[in-house]
Amino acid sequence: MITCSWNSIRGWEAPRLEPYGPLNLMPTASVLHYATSCFEGLKLYRGYDSRLRLFRPDRNCRRMLGSAVRIALPAFDPEELQKLLEALVRVDGAKWLPRSRPGSFLYLRPTMIADAAALGVQKPSGALLYIIACCFPSLDEPQGKFGLGSTSLSNGNTALPEKQAPGMKLLASKDDMVRAWPGGFGYAKVGANYGPSLIAQGEARARGFDQILWLLGPSCEVTEAGASNFFVVWRTREGRTQLLTAPLGDKVILDGVTRRSVLDLAAERLTTGWEELQALEIEERKFTMTEIEEAIEEGRLIEAFAAGTAVSEGTLGPFVKTTIPQRID
Ligand SMILES: *Cc1c(COP(=O)(O)O)cnc(C)c1O
Repeated sequence: MITCSWNSIRGWEAPRLEPYGPLNLMPTASVLHYATSCFEGLKLYRGYDSRLRLFRPDRNCRRMLGSAVRIALPAFDPEELQKLLEALVRVDGAKWLPRSRPGSFLYLRPTMIADAAALGVQKPSGALLYIIACCFPSLDEPQGKFGLGSTSLSNGNTALPEKQAPGMKLLASKDDMVRAWPGGFGYAKVGANYGPSLIAQGEARARGFDQILWLLGPSCEVTEAGASNFFVVWRTREGRTQLLTAPLGDKVILDGVTRRSVLDLAAERLTTGWEELQALEIEERKFTMTEIEEAIEEGRLIEAFAAGTAVSEGTLGPFVKTTIPQRID
């Protein structure tokens, strides 16, 4: 792993490459009490052309800076973080992703915590940035745990279908389990966003769903699915085909690298039609469960999908599949 310490007097110290192992923390470390932590998640891929690649790491590095400063962790130059990622990958990449395993990947987790020992509720005077690499289960196996096949949505009030449809099943969040709100920090990948989401997540899993669909407010705005961004493709009542996802403007959702990539690719390749696909309009705006329900009832919903690093493996498979969702209750 790579570690790099910061303190408010000397600033950032020289980064160190060292074996993976435990951290040395005082019980009073800020992070253990006040959730002063943020992280990133990206993958190193062994391509089918046998090259090793990071996917848009500059975006993760910039987003990590935004997350860090939102919770009073120190700023840094995102390009320097990218250099650290590349340094780790140069040491560990070929070892874990041999050329004989094209299509495999490693998950990289840059993390920053306030490790300064101080119980006072105050801006931390010391922090530790570290980067670890780990193997990560494949979430879009052909059986269709995620991705391929349809996505079905439910508010959880009805019995589950006897045979699970392929694809991903989402349980809508309840109004006492809100993930993020305007003026909050939902846009930042900070630890404080995830601990409180685990009850809802656990309930979804226990009831046979794959993820939570995070709703917001009395009108049930659709925001995100678990730790991934959520999209629908539908036809408007006027007959136009749209790709729709929640906007970044009020800082409720995470600015996903995969989300942006889906939007960029769609803007570049699908807005004028592609093969048998009709031209697609792209909308980043607020939308509600009611709108989705109406689209289903009127037969206008074409597909819905979640997009995030965890569920992408460097192919476009999960994103171009068009299937009618089985049910919305
Ligand atoms: C990490 C994450 C995403 C997905 O972001 P990517 O950069 O595409 O991996 C979406 N929503 C939340 C809440 C996340 O934590």
